[in-house]
Amino acid sequence: MTRTFTGNFTQQESLPEDAIEAAVAVMRSGRLHRYNVADGEDGETALLERDFAAQLGVPYCLATGSGGTAMQIALTACGLKRGDAVLTNGYTLSPVPGAIHIAGGVPVLVETTDDMVIDLADLDAKAAAHPGTYLMLSHMRGHLADMERIVAICEAHGLTLIEDCAHTMGAAWKGRASGTFGRAACFSTQTYKHINSGEGGFLTTADADVMAHAVVRSGSYMLYDRHLAGPAPDAYVDARLDMPNGSSRMDNLRAALLRPQLVALSEQVDRWNTRYRAVENALSAHPAIRLRRIPQEETHVGSSIQFRLPDLPADAIAPFLALTKSRGVELKWFGAPDPAGYTSAHGSWRYVTAASLPNTDRVLARLFDMRLPLTFSVEDCRLIGEIIVECVGEYA
Ligand SMILES: *Cc1c(COP(=O)(O)O)cnc(C)c1O
Repeated sequence: MTRTFTGNFTQQESLPEDAIEAAVAVMRSGRLHRYNVADGEDGETALLERDFAAQLGVPYCLATGSGGTAMQIALTACGLKRGDAVLTNGYTLSPVPGAIHIAGGVPVLVETTDDMVIDLADLDAKAAAHPGTYLMLSHMRGHLADMERIVAICEAHGLTLIEDCAHTMGAAWKGRASGTFGRAACFSTQTYKHINSGEGGFLTTADADVMAHAVVRSGSYMLYDRHLAGPAPDAYVDARLDMPNGSSRMDNLRAALLRPQLVALSEQVDRWNTRYRAVENALSAHPAIRLRRIPQEETHVGSSIQFRLPDLPADAIAPFLALTKSRGVELKWFGAPDPAGYTSAHGSWRYVTAASLPNTDRVLARLFDMRLPLTFSVEDCRLIGEIIVECVGEYA
């Protein structure tokens, strides 16, 4: 009997009741704008920033309109000038090169290893060629490169490190939280990430000057003293006049939705990892399927899973994808010549100077990817893995 999966890969869980109640309270108050607070009231957005900073273990946090705008703001707040080079992953999602370009930077794409992380030899060479610039390091799909070596390369060449933690909220390297290695880090609270407010993001840093510039750049007007996770007023002496107001604030409604979800994050991470392991176990049954071995140093959040089929013939890719789809398993393929859905390869980012990335191209050509929403049961995940194995068996 041919088994088919009937679940929906884009269906997230409903929000927790306490989040819904908190959001309703904000709506009843009418005070949705973050700086519209009653006497003595902090406001949900300022409280969320305080909560997230405490959870990550950093002094400063700014909540933003999206993860992408958090990246734009981080680059500007870290001193990026128009035309500066920003090294970044050749394999990532389009908001990353997009943010660099919009902030005035020039993306310099770095190669990808077979383990889907940034290639450290290529990074070192490109950092040497662009000393004193920036690295926007995207922890794409939650895979961490060796963070100690990344930091060492950045230090050796004077690069300012900014982390894109859209997929690593809750992850760590040797027990140190992802997002605490660079000058600044950016997170997303968009629906498909680890906490869900539809749209939203965070910028975190331990640098008072960076945070002061970020807060004003995000659109604080002269109300920056209302930030509970911001620096003291004297940090704003220059920032308040130097920074253009980029109007990308979070509002109290979304913040109210997020605060209870933050409390539940570590529980959710465990649930993702249980599902990840179920798929991983099933996939490991087929020798043609290559999975990333998660390094011992990495605390991983398995909210999605990737596998490679390095020996799959080129003309078998489309039929393989069609077969899995016909059995209810929606795989994303980063090797498609034409971008589709959320997925695009570096060659279709026309605003970026075309780069020769042969290893990235080779890896992406046989890389398959899927989300693991928490609406899937562990049994669902086992079934998905088994269906993929059966489909691979048709072509390998
Ligand atoms: C989603 C995502 C972003 C941007 O987040 P938005 O909140 O959607 O702007 C950045 N980087 C990666 C790798 C992402 O997946």
